[in-house]
Amino acid sequence: MSSNTLRMSTLFLRTLREDPADADVDSAKLLQRAGYIRKAAPGIWTWLPLGLRVLNKIEEIIREEMASIDAQEVHFPALLPREPYEATHRWEEYGDNIFRVKDRHQADYLLAPTHEEMFTLLVKDMYSSYKDLPVTLYQIQTKYRDEFRPRAGLIRGREFIMKDAYSFTIDEEGMRKAYMDERGAYERIFNRLDLKYVPVFAMSGPMGGSASEEFLAPMAIGEDTFALAPSGKAWNVEALTTPEPAEIDCSATPAATKRPTPDAGTIERMVEFANATYPREDGRAWEAADVLKNVVVAVKHAEDDAHDKPWRELVVVGVPGDRTVDMKRLEAQFAPAEIEEATEEDLKAHPELVKGYIGPMALGPQARGDAEIGSAEDTAIRYFIDAHVAKGSAWYTGADEAGVDYYDLVYGRDFAADGVVEAVEVRHGDMSPDGSGPLSFERGVEIGQVFQLGLKYSKALGLTVLDQNGKAVPVWMGCYGIGVSRVLACIAETHHDEAGLAWPSVVAPAQVHVVATGKDEKAFEGAERLIAELEEAGIEVIYDDRKKVSPGVKFKDAELVGVPVIAVLGRDFVNDGTIEIRDRDGGNMVAVPASEALAELAKRVA
Ligand code: ATP
Ligand code: MG
Repeated sequence: MSSNTLRMSTLFLRTLREDPADADVDSAKLLQRAGYIRKAAPGIWTWLPLGLRVLNKIEEIIREEMASIDAQEVHFPALLPREPYEATHRWEEYGDNIFRVKDRHQADYLLAPTHEEMFTLLVKDMYSSYKDLPVTLYQIQTKYRDEFRPRAGLIRGREFIMKDAYSFTIDEEGMRKAYMDERGAYERIFNRLDLKYVPVFAMSGPMGGSASEEFLAPMAIGEDTFALAPSGKAWNVEALTTPEPAEIDCSATPAATKRPTPDAGTIERMVEFANATYPREDGRAWEAADVLKNVVVAVKHAEDDAHDKPWRELVVVGVPGDRTVDMKRLEAQFAPAEIEEATEEDLKAHPELVKGYIGPMALGPQARGDAEIGSAEDTAIRYFIDAHVAKGSAWYTGADEAGVDYYDLVYGRDFAADGVVEAVEVRHGDMSPDGSGPLSFERGVEIGQVFQLGLKYSKALGLTVLDQNGKAVPVWMGCYGIGVSRVLACIAETHHDEAGLAWPSVVAPAQVHVVATGKDEKAFEGAERLIAELEEAGIEVIYDDRKKVSPGVKFKDAELVGVPVIAVLGRDFVNDGTIEIRDRDGGNMVAVPASEALAELAKRVA
């Protein structure tokens, strides 16, 4: 019998009563138990009929929204040659995260982790004029990443399905428009999928710009932390900027004094010593937050105009003593240079860095005097100050002599810095970048990302078009990804209870789960009639037509599979012709005569 209805008697399905031993999150447990996916290898999954139905529905919604912004679908191979990835350095940059393969002639290939290179080359191949632009292309395709720790089922796989779109425009303004179009489509897609999301600024572009945003589905199992402001805006930790703290009036702060602070090379010892020896006049105790900690960092620069090989620069960063340096955030301040902790050898080469007593007075502007920065006369180590340090604030800090510290050394009065940097870990209660109030931190799973690429790939791969004046100009690009298989898992993760999955109607494998129970053929005949009506009305059905399976097992399976509405034809139907209809969660139960069942079901499905 050919119909759209999935019949449990023949459906390729085995539900499991027990959680698979190695499933670490609810979606991974339930998708396997309910027969949507099976594990093939760590991070590699087989799609079963039910899983494919849901996947296809998610893809269809994505396709509709891509069409609504005039993005055109193409499809690339997953197996790609090395050369384009060599040209953009990603063959190396991806490191161990990429699957590399050799063909029989020993030529290098890779299983694509993402497709910027191929899209860029395709447009280069086919287009040559500004008149061809703008264009946005996308695909829904299998990606490969040799993730260090595949986990959480489909959420972090090594083979997974991604929608990746790429926009090509003649100028920056066009790129921004394409970006906003794509972003709008993302909001519609996630809303339609009933998936909660937070757009998170992923980069501190100028003016808090949106050079990249990640769409995170907030949930405790997420691996990404984001910072949420009372305004509802959100940032990832790398992108957080600290608004300039209000200047402190230091007119009453006494002049800075040097005092012996022997054997106090750590903040703990400094605080202890000062409390024992120099009690504060304002009555409160000295705290770590009163100490300005000066951290020596080595910046590893690439070659530049003044250096014919990569070079290493020591810098010192002043941070409040109650905060810890975040090397990732700090490194972003020196990008593209990389940073690392200074070594003993670094310190030895600079006698002005007195271990345990490093202070700002021997560094930066105060040490440089009139020498021009970067000139041969300038021997001062550059000094940076963390963004949380307010102008006018008084500090207890090193005096660049062993056993001696400064007290009441005021930033902006006694010393200055060569620059303000984001150097420390952000924490709960810090002021949000938009000044709307204190930040809180939450966890989420990245379900998509929109990215203004600019000219990076078009320059690396030579994608130019002729502009209105006949001049060859590089094309502005954006790229936009959605983790399709991850989205499916996130919907499952946020739509379930102890009994099983509970899909939103738009993505459920069917809208109605019809269960016939008992030994009496009448129930099964009634179910067939109901199904014919539902099919006629375009409603998708899973029908549990299994004979010799107990009602209890059938109900358990229905709840596990997670179709939103359940219709039961059992003893009541045989006795008085009524069909019991309820929602997946057991709510809204009614018993209606068979003649009214279609109307009742259609109402719930709509
Ligand atoms: P993550 O930080 O989670 O590793 P990413 O930022 O490296 O992700 P992108 O390169 O931005 O990922 O890929 C686009 C989208 O593909 C992501 O937003 C995510 O939804 C999805 N994705 C990335 N890696 C995986 C994976 N290993 N398994 C499933 N989906 C993934
Ligand atoms: Mg990403």
